[in-house]
Amino acid sequence: MNTNTDFKLQEIDTGIYQLQDERENCATLVIGTQKALLFDTMLGLGDLKGFIHQLTNLPVIVINSHGHFDHIGGNCQFDEIYLNQRDFELLPLMRGCIEELERTHKRPLSKLRESLSEEQVAKIRPLADDSVFDLGGLAIEIVALPGHTAGSVGALIREKRLLLAGDAATPQMCLFMDGCQPLPVYQKTLQKMMNLEFDTFLLGHFLRTFPKEILHKFMECTEIVGKKRGHLLVYTWINRYRGMVYFLEMRNPQINDIICIIIKEESAES
Ligand SMILES: [Zn+2]
Repeated sequence: MNTNTDFKLQEIDTGIYQLQDERENCATLVIGTQKALLFDTMLGLGDLKGFIHQLTNLPVIVINSHGHFDHIGGNCQFDEIYLNQRDFELLPLMRGCIEELERTHKRPLSKLRESLSEEQVAKIRPLADDSVFDLGGLAIEIVALPGHTAGSVGALIREKRLLLAGDAATPQMCLFMDGCQPLPVYQKTLQKMMNLEFDTFLLGHFLRTFPKEILHKFMECTEIVGKKRGHLLVYTWINRYRGMVYFLEMRNPQINDIICIIIKEESAES
């Protein structure tokens, strides 16, 4: 019986599940015949390991899409964890955010704290660009998707024409946090994504899939930066994250959502 209700669960395809914690952080579980792969571990709320055991008993490989706190929080519950080396330098910065995050979330974040301990961080293995993970009957190809952070990666499941993209290209694109890269890096990644073979993609903060065509809108959104008026945005959870938000569409009919981009305040043009 399914008794662990710490996460929402959406079956995307056979053996592919999108999980969401109560703060709308998401992870994707992909189950092969020999192994399972967990793409991100969210903020560390709830019993993620127990939840996954209700879905599979296979050994679980964890891939962190990037090094931000809301993607690595549950790492401490797993043994085999990979993160692109370019994001390793973010981990001490994330450790420095824990107290503020506990204040703004109004609760202790003990798993995040443990996942960011020096002992746990030392266990994280560097994820090579273009790595392939064979889960048995299903291959997962890692693709570098820099922009949101230098070490952001996607996981392409060619057989399912599905890309797991983390925060690499999202409707409300964030380029104003620790590790975020200049706009042209993101634009190049969007171009790269358009040339990859998939039809739909999953993101780090949504239960649903997105159609590949929406990437053209995301690109259009990058082109209004500094041309339309930007609005100051202060991130509720970490006060020093301040950005300028540029809105392309308040409601895009295809995805029923806002399309905007937020860049660092100091890099906003007047
Ligand atoms: Zn992020």
